[in-house]
Amino acid sequence: MQKEKVLVIGACGQLGSELTLALRQVYSDAQVLATDVVPPSAELLVSGPFAQLDILDREAFFALVDKHQFTQIYHLAAILSANAERNPAFAWKLNIDGLMNVLDVAKSRDFVKKIYCPSSIAVFGPHTPTNDTPQFTVMDPNTIYGITKLVDERLSEYYFQKFNVDIRSLRYPGLISYKTPPGGGTTDYAVDIYYKAIQAGHYDCFLREDTSLPMMYMPDAIKATLDLMHADSDKVKIRSSYNLTAMSFTPTQVAESIRQHIPSFTISYAPDFRQQIADSWPNSIDDTAARQDWGWKPSYDLEAMTADMLKNLREKLR
Ligand code: NAD
Repeated sequence: MQKEKVLVIGACGQLGSELTLALRQVYSDAQVLATDVVPPSAELLVSGPFAQLDILDREAFFALVDKHQFTQIYHLAAILSANAERNPAFAWKLNIDGLMNVLDVAKSRDFVKKIYCPSSIAVFGPHTPTNDTPQFTVMDPNTIYGITKLVDERLSEYYFQKFNVDIRSLRYPGLISYKTPPGGGTTDYAVDIYYKAIQAGHYDCFLREDTSLPMMYMPDAIKATLDLMHADSDKVKIRSSYNLTAMSFTPTQVAESIRQHIPSFTISYAPDFRQQIADSWPNSIDDTAARQDWGWKPSYDLEAMTADMLKNLREKLR
């Protein structure tokens, strides 16, 4: 693994801050360059090299790639669902032009061997089957975030087929972690609820009580990402993006799982514009292709995740 040089774009976000540390365990600290438009946390800064990079600055990006001769690029910079609705034009620019820059660098530089760009369950829409949503099915997203992610998927497969760019992708469900706050998505409630349970004993939820959504605990998301990126190329049969899931639950169910640890915890409901986004997404996901092609298997269900979240947040908030 000595030869590998890894670039992480958007490394200060919810996923990037943990994925960068995980990559630095696989490779050495110096082999993984973390980049973002915002300054890094103290933990990220001490763990290895960091550089400022705006992925929309194509010239600076190409110059950085040429200077370091990266063999792998993890492109995580994006505007997430709820924030994208507030600024659709910028979401289109960042989510699509950003990936185009990454695809073009991989196409034109032989030393770039593999790239990763996550997709989302937001690529599905109101006419998609909502239960056990299949890998290949109707995709009619009606959020700007979902539309940009679907374009990204089609671009990825196109660059793989036309230009032999080894791009890999996962359609993450809502990601839940205690380390870094979420970046403005519709599943953010499933992180906030744990903070409020400890800090206030009560949570006012922006989704309806019966809204079932696919979710995943961050350690599983990191494991899936590394497993996919380390799989032999011929095992990666889907180059748009793989369905991926670990669990599905409603706000009522996560509240019940918290009550196993904090019996006095209460929840109320005040759905806002994010309810409409959640209603257009699947209740649950069929990820058979990921399980069959490269051996995906999650480790955390709701009970295991709740126990771990509460334990770690209690320490963090002490
Ligand atoms: P996030 O919003 O927490 O982090 C994104 C990071 O990108 C931020 O640190 C931000 O500063 C950075 N960034 C913004 N503009 C940039 C630019 N021009 N150049 C470089 N960096 C820039 O998002 P996240 O949750 O870490 O998501 C990472 C990826 O995973 C995204 O592609 C997202 O669509 C996808 N995803 C996330 C979730 C989730 O629940 N978190 C679910 C599905 C898919």
